[in-house]
Amino acid sequence: MEQYDVVIIGGGAAGLSAAVTLGRALRTVLVIDAGEPRNAPAAGVHGFLSRDGISPVELLEAGRGEVRKYGGKVVAEVAVSARSTAAPEPSAEPAFEVELADGQSVAARRLLVAAGLTDILPDVEGLKERWGRDVLHCPYCHGWEVRNRAIGILGSVPMAMHQALLFRQWSKDITLFLNDVVEPTEDEWEQLAARSISVVEGKVKSLKVADDVLNGVVLESGTVIPVEALVVGPRMEARSSVLASLGIQSVEHPMGVGKHVEAAPQGGATAVPGVWVAGNVTDLTGQVMASAAAGNMAGAVINADLIAAETRVAVEAARKRLEPRFQELAPTN
Ligand SMILES: Cc1cc2nc3c(=O)[nH]c(=O)nc-3n(C[C@H](O)[C@H](O)[C@H](O)COP(=O)(O)OP(=O)(O)OC[C@H]3O[C@@H](n4cnc5c(N)ncnc54)[C@H](O)[C@@H]3O)c2cc1C
Repeated sequence: MEQYDVVIIGGGAAGLSAAVTLGRALRTVLVIDAGEPRNAPAAGVHGFLSRDGISPVELLEAGRGEVRKYGGKVVAEVAVSARSTAAPEPSAEPAFEVELADGQSVAARRLLVAAGLTDILPDVEGLKERWGRDVLHCPYCHGWEVRNRAIGILGSVPMAMHQALLFRQWSKDITLFLNDVVEPTEDEWEQLAARSISVVEGKVKSLKVADDVLNGVVLESGTVIPVEALVVGPRMEARSSVLASLGIQSVEHPMGVGKHVEAAPQGGATAVPGVWVAGNVTDLTGQVMASAAAGNMAGAVINADLIAAETRVAVEAARKRLEPRFQELAPTN
């Protein structure tokens, strides 16, 4: 079985960034990547300093090249589960075996899971097909691209009220669709009116599209409200099945926006020794730059953990070498 210092599950911004850091630290690294980054439907990555607008495919291709430059390996595969192979003593060094979908297994001294998250979209006819194009969620990713356009906000989650006020920064033409879900408070009605945000009552049925361009929201009543972009609040769920096989469960995020894996804020250590997380799997709202930064930090922290383990082993070995000499020099009476 192939053995690595670190196996990284997920080759998005977080996983690849960790792999570059570890490769540069002369560690043997394997990145297992299923090739479905969260922003795949988007045409460009925005807000990534020096690479603004680059296609998600191109950014990750460059990242894989950098991993390989430092001796790291990237394989297009799915990790299905992992198990601890450490000795049973509490002081034993962590060790893992990761099972891949093709039936093969790889061994690792440390594991980093950077598998991202799944966006669960509201169930509206025609919406999924337009996700990442003119159906959006993040103003910092797409707001500039739809500035001054007719923007609808789909009331599928209570967060919609916040999104309506937020997107008002990018356009004066904002319509909040209550969709039988959102019920603004008295204060919120006042805020909506003060910011000239239109409010449409009634359940949303489908989207109206012509020539592959969104141009309206269709209500169950049949009324069509013209919009050029629609903002939704997807439920975000950490891709945590491999972590679950190690006993690490994802939990409800305090913001009520989905499920994430809890971890140390700096470096991403989980409750299981030897297992770290980075990127959207733990930080549901992190953008590409934050995810890359988290991977970079996780790589450094994992390397430090390996150095600490190697130093312990070296000290034990040195003591064993020196012990006979101490015994020779000890007074005998
Ligand atoms: C439509 C859309 C547009 C966006 N636009 C922007 C933008 O313009 N700017 C910006 O900064 N952010 C943007 N984001 C956010 C961005 O997508 C995330 O911040 C970023 O992808 C998180 O990186 P990550 O490495 O944590 O996860 P991901 O990029 O999702 O990468 C995780 C990788 O792990 C793989 N994986 C998962 N499970 C397994 C497994 N079991 N075995 C092997 N591999 C696995 C996945 O296939 C994937 O390749 C956008 C998000 C969406 C939804």
